[in-house]
Amino acid sequence: MLFFPNNRRNELKPKDSKEINLLKEKVNYNTLLQMIINPHEKEESELRQLLIKKYKRLYQIEKGVLTFLDIPVLITPMNVIVFYSFILRERYKEKSYKIFYDNAKEYGKSLGNRIQYEFDLKHHPHGLRILMQLIGMLGFGKVEITSYNKEAKSITFNINHNVFAKEYIKVLGGHELNHDFYIAGFAAGLLEEFFEKPVDVKEERCMITGAPACIFKTV
Ligand SMILES: [Zn+2]
Repeated sequence: MLFFPNNRRNELKPKDSKEINLLKEKVNYNTLLQMIINPHEKEESELRQLLIKKYKRLYQIEKGVLTFLDIPVLITPMNVIVFYSFILRERYKEKSYKIFYDNAKEYGKSLGNRIQYEFDLKHHPHGLRILMQLIGMLGFGKVEITSYNKEAKSITFNINHNVFAKEYIKVLGGHELNHDFYIAGFAAGLLEEFFEKPVDVKEERCMITGAPACIFKTV
């Protein structure tokens, strides 16, 4: 049982409740979240502008429930995801890659289908770029498309500031194998809907192995 001496208890009491209430009124959690999530994307993401026009707010908190485009979501610290990925890999080896990839691909298909339909991205001049901005919007890092063959329906893209990879290196010190199966699967799901054909994405080089950027391509 925790014991607080009386004088210590007094210290924990709010000294000025008026001040605290004033502060509470000033704090808008939605504004806070917009600042926390992808602050660098504010000006550059066309997708963000389209979504805000339609939904007003991308993320909302209501009665303790956080949603992204009306889908309930969790805020999970990246180091927790790193450990999750590490434990799965230790336990299931290469099977874990497939768990991440397949799971993300289904998510990419469902979210990608919705976004493409809502904003008619297949007929938009920058449709593919806008669609791929979803990856950055979900917090994995900004995507840069380095080549796009419209006829062959194939692309290559980089993530130069991969948030997961950076955290992985910080927590576990890197690895000899590529590791971004979640991003690859999610991109494959997005592209499969966009190209209207079976698509898989492979990570060619990964920051976790010491590469300067994570490089992905359709296969
Ligand atoms: Zn990577």
